[in-house]
Amino acid sequence: MRNAFTVDVEDYFHVEAFARVISRDSWGGFHARVHANTATLLEMLDQRGIRGTFFVLGWVAKRHPEVVREISDAGHEIASHGLNHRLVYTQTPEEFQRETREAKALLEDQCQKRVIGYRAATYSITRKSLWALDILCEEGFEYDSSIFPMRHDRYGLPGANPRPHMFTTEAGACLAEFPISVLRYGVAKIPVAGGGYFRLFPYGFTRWALRQLNRRGQEFVFYIHPWEMDPAQPRVHEADSLSRFRHYLNLERCPQRLDRLLDDFTFDTMGAVLAQRNLLPSRSEG
Ligand SMILES: [Zn+2]
Repeated sequence: MRNAFTVDVEDYFHVEAFARVISRDSWGGFHARVHANTATLLEMLDQRGIRGTFFVLGWVAKRHPEVVREISDAGHEIASHGLNHRLVYTQTPEEFQRETREAKALLEDQCQKRVIGYRAATYSITRKSLWALDILCEEGFEYDSSIFPMRHDRYGLPGANPRPHMFTTEAGACLAEFPISVLRYGVAKIPVAGGGYFRLFPYGFTRWALRQLNRRGQEFVFYIHPWEMDPAQPRVHEADSLSRFRHYLNLERCPQRLDRLLDDFTFDTMGAVLAQRNLLPSRSEG
């Protein structure tokens, strides 16, 4: 079964966990590591002939256009991770629309292809910001992968359909949704899709959980950030202890775990997986 391999292309100083101690205005002063770390991921995928979807932050695309070009030239799908990593539910619909449009136009100009996929910063499409899905439809997106179907302090839409599906918005528009994968186990929902959870759980557990999903006939999405491949990244000592725990936990184990994951499962772009499920009207595949 083909699963979606995805990367949220941002640098370590963009993350929400550090937003309280690193202001947006100061981002330009950091030494960027995103290009080198993305190259590491591209090489790992290339070795195995795997294609993935890269949700690129507009801020990164603006300053490092070579990153978008290299990803696209290697045959991967370019998708949008918004412009400035703002939480959707802290924006007005007008602000969200303006930033979303700008980021999409920028990426399309750089890769010379239509960009149809979107992932919100920190999965911030929640019950408070479902209006954003209507704006994504208006702006020409065909799929979203921002809904985390469980409870969390920063994100989550408990009760949301956990499988890839066609979502009908409040205004009646349709958009494919690939929610962040969780494994239902009894009454529990276990987040197994990547990022901090991939670093938290022993690899054997992650593999078991993802195999459970595939055995149940469900494709999963896996997500990773370039900075998770970079144990030597500078430390942000000013951040609170929970944020530091979440960001730095098992970073040194991550590249090796990812190697194993890429060998153990079959992956493709999110667009291809959704098309195979007949959830992308513009790309019907077999
Ligand atoms: Zn992000």
